Amino acid sequence: MSTVSESGVVSAVNKELFIGGKWTAASGGRTFPVQDPATGEVLCEVADASPEDGIAALDAAVAAQADWAAHPPRERGEILRRAYDALMARQDELALLMTLEMGKPLAEARGEIAYAAEFFRWFAEEAVRIDGGYATAPNGSGRFLIAKQPVGPSLLITPWNFPMAMGTRKIGPAVAAGCTMVIKPAAQTPLSMLALAQILADAGLPEGVLNVVTTSSAGSVMEPLIRDGRARKLSFTGSTAVGRKLLEQCADKVLRTSMELGGNAPFLVFDDADLDAAVEGAMQAKMRNIGEACTAANRFYVQRGIADEFARRLTERMAALPIGRGTEDGVVVGPLIDEAAIEKVSELVSDAAGRGAKVLTGGATVDGPGHFYQPTVLTDVPQSARMTSEEIFGPVAPISVFDTEDEAIAKANDTEYGLVSYVFTSDLKRSLRVCERLETGMVGLNQGIVSNPAAPFGGVKQSGLGREGGTVGIDEFLETKYIAVSL
Ligand code: NAP
Repeated sequence: MSTVSESGVVSAVNKELFIGGKWTAASGGRTFPVQDPATGEVLCEVADASPEDGIAALDAAVAAQADWAAHPPRERGEILRRAYDALMARQDELALLMTLEMGKPLAEARGEIAYAAEFFRWFAEEAVRIDGGYATAPNGSGRFLIAKQPVGPSLLITPWNFPMAMGTRKIGPAVAAGCTMVIKPAAQTPLSMLALAQILADAGLPEGVLNVVTTSSAGSVMEPLIRDGRARKLSFTGSTAVGRKLLEQCADKVLRTSMELGGNAPFLVFDDADLDAAVEGAMQAKMRNIGEACTAANRFYVQRGIADEFARRLTERMAALPIGRGTEDGVVVGPLIDEAAIEKVSELVSDAAGRGAKVLTGGATVDGPGHFYQPTVLTDVPQSARMTSEEIFGPVAPISVFDTEDEAIAKANDTEYGLVSYVFTSDLKRSLRVCERLETGMVGLNQGIVSNPAAPFGGVKQSGLGREGGTVGIDEFLETKYIAVSL
């Protein structure tokens, strides 16, 4: 049990904008409410930035850029390392804050704080490994110098589903590379980011390097910054629909972009799989974050020989999951983020049932306050069901059967998305064959979780552009400069 109180963690967060190293009220003193999705109650009000506030944040980032780029990499890394230590030291209170604004159970929120902190530790180590090159021109007459330099002031936009980790996954490499930034967290979950801004300031991040704008009007605040011309980069995590719109806006001033967008992960189970491991992996891939993850298994394709047994075991596990407010002991399934999420999940389940799918467990909302949906398993879900092409973003596992490897791969790849897929098989040759043919940026082979700060996370097709984490994550915030040297 946590020793910190709910009202205590909320009141400890500064709820103003963080611009140029100072906490500042929004112009006109406007605010917007943040709600607890488990109760619908308002937790607090935070500053509601105007477009002018957004420009002030960009001014601060631009003003700080040259000094920050010249800051010794070791010191940039040490700031991140101190922030890592602070995040871990305050893991319980930050987890409670996250559970209150986002709904995920406390154990998962603690896990996210550790995951988020790990991006800082990783990029603290990467800050001092930014390399370059020296080469002889092919004709021998000159030399090439290759240098890596920070991209420049960057705009970062993050979603509500991982309020801390989606921030540190961008801030870590930006700080390490020497970029200044303006970050806009999701309106539903701004508190974790506001707490993080103070942690980074306390860790020694100079004024103006990180600027945080919270707003209820994302488009009208961010579009002028994207079109301003002084920011050189947009790193966005969110839906494919918004990502497309932002890519169009970025075309105007030819901004560098990183796009971590939606997913529609297939989860393939072959007859030769270790069934215990497959069911365990299915629970992780489906239920992490209450199914509200871009990496969530969205479609289960199971080979005919084990399909009934897989469905039976998954149903048993799903039906036993305790539902409740994420702050309660033992709860595994918290609320969905809002009423719109509940409506979307309900619609997708009705659509599948209308097309012949059978509901093995769940299939309904939970009475009472908050936005709760029962863990649900469906079988005989036809490929025409909307949930095979749209993100469910909730605790619903649709199963359908396949006969051959080719059929499984064709179904898995039959989507505009390409973030992650999961494969369970004990056959080594099949493993490699299937992994190579799946059109996704990541594959979980006999495991239900792929996210790791030390690995390159990202998608292909309409799931995005670029990679976050791993040794390539910092490259998203670096430009390559080539200097031709005459001898
Ligand atoms: P979203 O609606 O696209 O919002 C994401 C962020 O963009 C929020 O901060 C949002 O602000 C902001 N935004 C919305 N419209 C905007 C606009 N016109 N201009 C500038 N910013 C705008 O997505 P979401 O519902 O928060 O998050 C869920 C989605 O994120 C899912 O599709 C999920 O798959 C994806 N996701 C992807 C990854 C990945 O790594 N690939 C990771 C996590 C989530 P407001 O909150 O104020 O609307």
